[in-house]
Amino acid sequence: MQEESARATQRGSSRCMQMVAMAAGILTNAVRLTAHAFRGSSLLLSANSRLIKVPKFSQCLTVCSSSLAIEENAELTNTNRDELSSTFFTSSPSSDLHHIAVAKKRNLKDMTFPELQEWVESLGQKPSRAVMLWKWLYGNGKWAQSTSEIQGLNREFRAVLEKHADFGPVLVLQGIHHARDGTRKLVFLVEEFGAQIETVLIPGPRNRVTVCVSSQIGCAMNCQFCYTAKMGLKGNLSTAHIVEQLVVAARMCSQELGLGLVTNVVFMGMGEPFQNIDNVVRAAEIMTNGQGLHLSPRKVTISTSGLVPQIRTFCRTSNCALAVSLNATTDEVRDQIMPVNRKYKLMDLLDCVREELVTHRPGEKVFFEYVLLKNVNDSTDDAKRLVDLVCGIPCKINLITFNLHEGSLFEPTPLEDVLLFRDIVASTGIVVSIRHSRGDDQKMACGQLGSVTPRHPRRRNPEIHNLT
Ligand code: SAH
Repeated sequence: MQEESARATQRGSSRCMQMVAMAAGILTNAVRLTAHAFRGSSLLLSANSRLIKVPKFSQCLTVCSSSLAIEENAELTNTNRDELSSTFFTSSPSSDLHHIAVAKKRNLKDMTFPELQEWVESLGQKPSRAVMLWKWLYGNGKWAQSTSEIQGLNREFRAVLEKHADFGPVLVLQGIHHARDGTRKLVFLVEEFGAQIETVLIPGPRNRVTVCVSSQIGCAMNCQFCYTAKMGLKGNLSTAHIVEQLVVAARMCSQELGLGLVTNVVFMGMGEPFQNIDNVVRAAEIMTNGQGLHLSPRKVTISTSGLVPQIRTFCRTSNCALAVSLNATTDEVRDQIMPVNRKYKLMDLLDCVREELVTHRPGEKVFFEYVLLKNVNDSTDDAKRLVDLVCGIPCKINLITFNLHEGSLFEPTPLEDVLLFRDIVASTGIVVSIRHSRGDDQKMACGQLGSVTPRHPRRRNPEIHNLT
């Protein structure tokens, strides 16, 4: 009963968020106003790289609702304008607000297929037009970026799209780096934040092509072995930002590199996906839609540092694969190298994964990622403890060799010790493999993404010297 009412509240607040996001979406083209989070009674919005905290959400919702009404009537009353002005801007002229009321395009890549269908119908169009549009966006290798690139479009629908739809681009491709092993790193500018994110394209054997996407700009988790952590967190990526990384990489694969289709996606780029779970789950839904990008849900893997409540939500709302970055076999070590462990202890994390798999994902396996750090988590005792920890959890273990980066306090485990660790785990029948770094000569491998400029604050380091 209690659980049901908690769920109802959650549904209610996420509907509120959607309404706000819709309203903010309408505003986005004029001033790039984006809804970020709803906490307590405040709402976080960003405009032109500035974060704005709106303290009274109820007031904001009223304002946003009236801005939706404004959209319909194309009218802005003085009260609305004053309310908007005092809520969103401290000093901006009200002429901006006139501009806001006029701009009302929806970004197409922010919508899942059912949402696109609903939106197309709300514009008085046949549902079949949504299917056609979706296929041009994702499905037929054309990757349309404007109405002019869509052939055979009904004249009326073209006009509707030109008026109401925003095709993007939501990301600006600023550079492509090539590694010796064929891996490529795409560097994008996220204009709203004035910051860059990175996406990695990894050609593999047997026509496998993996794209590693970022879910946030920077990261807040502060894992001590990860370079991205040094950036801190600058913001969450939108659904469209995440989907666009794959679309650009997929277009490059098929049109320029002759590599064929992207077969796998891993959310192992910059960020903690489960701190941005709504946008990540929606992006994964778009990636796996059968009429579009059509990736198998088993080939889209979301990797988390171990946020327990979000693991539960994810296992119940998405059908994509789960990876958990374990990286230690005792709370003492994990507390030090992954501060998230101070909140969610190893036992809680593993109990949660075990329960969720059994109850909601029967027949599926979780991937446990384990970065081997010399003299920190790579002893034979660690290997034995790891086996005990994952006992009873259907899983596959990936041992990752540590990728060095500037200012790193860790060293990679020597190969012979990596092999010994693997053999101890494998001897118990657990499926375990060693994941070799890809693109590490150009800073493209796990934990090497991002750029740390002198403007970034130095991040606190727990006393890791005690561990060695
Ligand atoms: N925040 C998520 C996803 C991003 S990190 C997570 O923690 O899972 C993706 C993977 O890279 C994680 O398994 C992480 O443990 C690993 N990683 C981070 N830094 C690394 C480094 N320097 N060398 C090797 N792997 C690293």
